[in-house]
Amino acid sequence: MTDDDAKLDTEFFRRWLAATAAAVDREAGRLTELDSAIGDADHGVNLQRGFAAVTAVLEEQAPTTPGAVLTLAGRQLIARVGGASGPLYGTLLRRTGKDLGDEATVTRQRLATALGAGVAAVAQLGGAQAGDKTMLDALLPAVEGLAESFAAARDAAAQGALATVPLRARKGRASYLGERSVGHEDPGAASSALLVAALAEAAA
Ligand code: ADP
Ligand code: MG
Repeated sequence: MTDDDAKLDTEFFRRWLAATAAAVDREAGRLTELDSAIGDADHGVNLQRGFAAVTAVLEEQAPTTPGAVLTLAGRQLIARVGGASGPLYGTLLRRTGKDLGDEATVTRQRLATALGAGVAAVAQLGGAQAGDKTMLDALLPAVEGLAESFAAARDAAAQGALATVPLRARKGRASYLGERSVGHEDPGAASSALLVAALAEAAA
């Protein structure tokens, strides 16, 4: 079966978020280090707290559709993460889940469309666009890549995160540094690359 035909079920979405929680735990130190260079050194801790809460609530409430898994996870991130990234990631997952509706399974193409809606909601909430050195610099290419394959999404997100290094931050805390934000990878773009890598991992 090619991944075009694959039906992504509720279990797939639980695997995605579990793999994200594991990656965030593994990489929390690096995320916080990136955030100490151009922010306030809390990004790893913020996401660890958020995704631990996501893992717990998914176990407790056992949502039964892909859309319900993502909307519940998104609500939890908004409620539990104090930093800018909580409402932004929360909005990403909640809006993506809302777009999936109550379908029992979805195709990768369908997920790409829904994730596109989620990323657009992040752009609207944060007022950022491509090249502003934010999570969008990993998420926007990931949506394009996902139209092709999970691996293409993962690679595009990783490249997008690395491509934030020479950029000057125009949104979020890092923008206060002006020129001094140049030369560092954006922590939110780095964590978005983890989220998309976890998606490819869930599909493998
Ligand atoms: P805080 O900046 O409140 O400490 P975090 O450290 O958890 O929150 O997250 C910082 C990340 O959030 C940044 O690296 C960036 O990717 C993302 N971010 C911040 N502001 C915005 C915004 N307006 N739009 C999109 N992403 C943003
Ligand atoms: Mg921070």
